[in-house]
Amino acid sequence: MSEDLRRAELAAALARARERVAAAEAAAGRVAGSARLLVVTKFFPAEDMARLIDLGAAEFGESREPEAGRKVAQVREQLPQAHFDVDMIGSVQRKKAKTVARWARRVQSVDSPELLQALAMAAGRSLEAGERPGPLGVLLQVSLDGDPARGGVPESGLAALAEQVVAHDGTLTLDGLMVIAPLHGQVHDHLAHAQEIAERFRVEFPDARELSSGMSGDLEAAIAHGSTCVRVGTAIMGPRPITSP
Ligand SMILES: *Cc1c(COP(=O)(O)O)cnc(C)c1O
Repeated sequence: MSEDLRRAELAAALARARERVAAAEAAAGRVAGSARLLVVTKFFPAEDMARLIDLGAAEFGESREPEAGRKVAQVREQLPQAHFDVDMIGSVQRKKAKTVARWARRVQSVDSPELLQALAMAAGRSLEAGERPGPLGVLLQVSLDGDPARGGVPESGLAALAEQVVAHDGTLTLDGLMVIAPLHGQVHDHLAHAQEIAERFRVEFPDARELSSGMSGDLEAAIAHGSTCVRVGTAIMGPRPITSP
């Protein structure tokens, strides 16, 4: 596809996604801009991320290391003046913590004490080396149904992990919770459940304001249920290329 066609396609899809977010905020009686739009660029090339930055997108989600780190480095080299942030939204192996801490603003998929420990060490080293501008943001991933394949911890495990984040003050910040709605059941019920969990969590950890929920197919429902961050891939990028696992 020619450069101009792809750019026009991304421009139109980004505008549509922004309209959907704005309409959902209005329908829920929420302040405009209270749900951020994270563009999920996983499996798409650095050139697409650069096009989106040029179109005004500034927040991205990536899910696979080392591809993500390479892509971010390539875009930073290509556009040294650009301001953009990239969150890790996919599961992170402990041995990848070191490289993820170099490029990620936040890790949204933290669900074990071991991973947290590895991220704290990696973020500490990265800060010392001047590789990152500030602490690594942490979102704890909540499991709504206990399915280990989708990751996350049950609500009962959140407080202990949160205390562990708080203990690394200066290196990590506790930003909030992330949820991926289970495939079975009613998506509205799942997203409402996530909102209740987030509200209980904030009673104890009031700075953890982020609730990352909602993707291409359910962003309206997520915003109706308190999402502050929707992660949109397919609706902006188009269908992901099929890759081997
Ligand atoms: C891929 C991915 C998304 C984006 O999903 P779409 O349905 O393509 O919008 C959102 N969240 C996570 C955790 C993902 O891995």
